[in-house]
Order: sequence, then C-alpha cells, then structure tokens
Amino acid sequence: MESDFYSDNFYFARTPLEQADLVIWGLPWDCTASYRAGTREAPYALRRAFEAVESYSPYCDQDLEDLRIHDAGNLELPFGDTDQTLALIRRHTQRFLQQNKKLISLGGEHLLTLPLIEQYYKYFGPDLHVLHLDAHCDLREEYLGVKFSHASVMSLAREHIGIDNISHFFIRSGSREEWLRLHQSPHTHALTYPCTLDTIDKIPLDYLRNKKLYLTIDLDVFDPSLIPGTGVPDSGGIKFDDFMKFLVRLNGFNLVGCDLMELAPQIDPTGASSITAAKILRETIFKMV
Ligand code: MN
Ligand code: MN
Repeated sequence: MESDFYSDNFYFARTPLEQADLVIWGLPWDCTASYRAGTREAPYALRRAFEAVESYSPYCDQDLEDLRIHDAGNLELPFGDTDQTLALIRRHTQRFLQQNKKLISLGGEHLLTLPLIEQYYKYFGPDLHVLHLDAHCDLREEYLGVKFSHASVMSLAREHIGIDNISHFFIRSGSREEWLRLHQSPHTHALTYPCTLDTIDKIPLDYLRNKKLYLTIDLDVFDPSLIPGTGVPDSGGIKFDDFMKFLVRLNGFNLVGCDLMELAPQIDPTGASSITAAKILRETIFKMV
C-alpha cells in the first residue's frame, strides 16, 4: 500500500504510522477546475512553504514537533479518471480511519473532499458533522454537465450525509439557485447579514457540542488580498485574524478530520499564498489534538 505514495515529508511529521495520532497526506489532483487550474501543485508547495513557517505556535503555545504526526506523502492519482481517483481516496481514507488515525488532507481541488466525507460518515455515522468554510456555495447540481465537480461537492455531500449534518461558513458567492439551496440548511452562516466579520465570535455553535467534526477549508474563503493563489478568488473574504477567532470558537469541540483545498500556488509567484496556507494548516492541526 505504501508504495502508492511519494514525495518528501513535512519536517514535523516523522512519527512512524503505527505510533502516530495524526496522518497528513497530499492529494494532488485538479481535473474539474473551472477557471484557473493548478491545485495539484499545492501539497508540494505546502511542504516547501513549511521551511519558512515555525512549528511552534505562539497563539496556543504548542509545537507541531511535540505531536505524533505521520506524513504519508502524496497519493498518486490518475488525472482524467474521476471515478478511479475518488475510489483510491476512499480506499486509503478507510484504511487510515480503521487504524484510528485523524486525517489531515491536502488538496487538490474541492471535489476531493467528497470521498473523505463519505468514508468519515461510514466510520462515525450520524455523529459526524461537516464544517464547510468557503467563498462559494459549491451547491450546483452539476457544472457543464458534470455531476462530480468542485462546484457541486456540497450538493453531493448533502446527498450522502444529509443537509442537517453540514454547516456552511463565510459563503459569499453562488448562483441564485445555489443561494436558495444554501438557506435550506438550518446551519448556514453566510458572510452576509446576520453573519459579518464582526460577529464571528457570536455565531451560535452549541449544536456542535457532541458531534464529531470534520472541517473542510476551501482556501478561497480567505480574502484574495491574503491568498490570491486559488483557482476562483472572491473578494470580501475573511482575514487571518478572523480565522483565528473562528478556531478559538472550536476549543473543546471534537475535531476528527480536516482538509485544506484549492491552493493553487503557481498563481501567486510571491509564494505568500502557500506560506499563509501553511500557517493556517499549523493552527488547524493544533485543534485536532
Ligand atoms: Mn470556493
Ligand atoms: Mn469549494
């Protein structure tokens, strides 16, 4: 199985698989990208960016090197074959979950969250609740005739785990139809009134108290001034401090998995998008232990 993986490791993730609590892996695949491609490069760029990011967090006084993290490398995925790609991710996700590991997945495009959520739901059942951070609804029924697309990933997830088991945060873009579907959810915290950047610390989250939480972060949830390197940037997004406020809100909750999707590093030649994403990744990992 391990021979399906390749690439260098994150320097903070050298614990052997058997002894690890957390597993981090890359999913370099971006075949349904609709505007600007390149998220397949993200797992490589994030490992590289960590050369500029400290493992120690002064925000929570923790160090990644004190955690037991295993870097499984990048999963080799066939470009042009969506079915096979999703099947491979399902198979390996199931394997890690059966070994009682918490998974940190680095996309790749947002469609790849679907097989992750499917396997998490299979493993945790209705206790699972998905937190969806994104600029976009991702609630299309299909995109250009394609059902399995980054633009429909949350519709597909709803079909699988139910509309009540997903919360949407900081959304600010979508078609009228998607927007109607978004507000069918009882757990929509779109970045329009009543949720604004000023009210992040007031979003009611008590309903998540006894849930197993899976956090999916489409990095275009951040403002393009902070992370321009995404396929479909959308202005008016959250800033790093807003995200930290949101993470503080998750203190005491049970985060069992997370993914970071849609970083397209080559779109931002300054490298700042990747370094910012690496810091976001670091702070998110501390919420999982
Ligand atoms: Mn998005
Ligand atoms: Mn998305």
